[in-house]
Amino acid sequence: MYSEELFKISKENMPGGVSSPVRAYKPYPFFAKQASGSKITDIDGKTYIDHCLGYGPLILGHANPKIVEAITDQAQKGTLYGVPTENEIKLSQEIINRVPCADMVRFCNSGTEATMSAIRLARGYTGRDKIVKFEGTYHGAHDYVLVKSGSGAATHPDSKGIPESTTQNTLSVPFNDEEALKELIEEEGNNIACIIMEVVMGNVGCIKPKKGYLDFIRKLTIDYGIILIFDEVITGFRLSSGGAQEYFGVTPDICTFAKILGGGLPIGAIAGKQKIMELFAPNGPVYQAGTFSGNPLSIRAGITALEQLDKSFYDTLNKKGNLLRLRLKDNIEDLGLNLQVNGIGSMFQIYFNPEPVTNYTEAKKSDSDLFTDYFHELLKNGVFIAPSQFECCFLSGAHSDEDLEKTSYAIEKSLKTIY
Ligand code: PLP
Repeated sequence: MYSEELFKISKENMPGGVSSPVRAYKPYPFFAKQASGSKITDIDGKTYIDHCLGYGPLILGHANPKIVEAITDQAQKGTLYGVPTENEIKLSQEIINRVPCADMVRFCNSGTEATMSAIRLARGYTGRDKIVKFEGTYHGAHDYVLVKSGSGAATHPDSKGIPESTTQNTLSVPFNDEEALKELIEEEGNNIACIIMEVVMGNVGCIKPKKGYLDFIRKLTIDYGIILIFDEVITGFRLSSGGAQEYFGVTPDICTFAKILGGGLPIGAIAGKQKIMELFAPNGPVYQAGTFSGNPLSIRAGITALEQLDKSFYDTLNKKGNLLRLRLKDNIEDLGLNLQVNGIGSMFQIYFNPEPVTNYTEAKKSDSDLFTDYFHELLKNGVFIAPSQFECCFLSGAHSDEDLEKTSYAIEKSLKTIY
């Protein structure tokens, strides 16, 4: 059966035909058959260079041989024990060694769980209820953070089914705007448990923090006794070995991981300073739990992924990202177009907007119809990116120079066609 036919059946079985909203693009998404390295092949027989990469986790590409070997071996030894394992110590130690804020680690199963628990921890520690997030950041699908949210929620904002009483303690301000944050903190600072942020916004495309912005936030949070949470679900183990906090040299109190940490399998983690982390049950009064937390397969895949992610890996990958962005900018200029190529390290996105994009409001000005045309042209030209303007494109270590040449050629060709 072909993707078109399968999608019809799938819509009868599952709402919207998918297991997560952003996957459902029109007229129908391609159904995956298999994937290897930098490529994904659909059931209709077409192969694409993949820059969606499972929405970020696959920094080593698809079916990384060492990870496949490790999880095959682990599966034979058992997939769930319900008791602690030595490998959990190994992976937590690896995180502690790499990540500046990490004195201790708690494993869970997804980024959503990680941010939910990190916020609870911050509230438990400070005894305060209010939290601050930034417009356009996405911290998962739980109730407290689905306010002016990015990712799929940017297309379906302010979800129904969330009582106002749940979100009335969630305050949001524009990203990269020191004045707006200062004003809010001066007014509410003593009632605020935490500021949670994506250091690089990766759920409205890709937006970097302005110079000095992170230092400003760090100082403000210290002055007011507010816990600073870096949601590193995308940036963790992507921008550098120690995540965005190492890359930018600003250390939060707590951070959250998922995606890359699981080596392609589901995982989440909260890491942070000992005096805060010790509050988690069973040590302390902040409850956090999960049947599959620390499951042997994800932990083993995570260890095997991190073993391959050393400094030289990031130097090479980030260099490739810089080169690709330069090439895209040159091509766009040569075409006489005025578009924005945003990105950092191995993350990038194009905005169909003549003005620089530094926050959610500016990102929303991008012409999303043009983006959709661009997405479909890219598919025709053999490149798969996330089907939404409000997602980010990624590179992996499996992308060769030849892949990247093909990608930039496909982007140029697609832009020529749609303009
Ligand atoms: N935080 C950020 C920054 C994310 O990008 C995501 C997912 O894309 C999440 C949290 C939620 O993670 P998950 O989808 O694993 O629940």
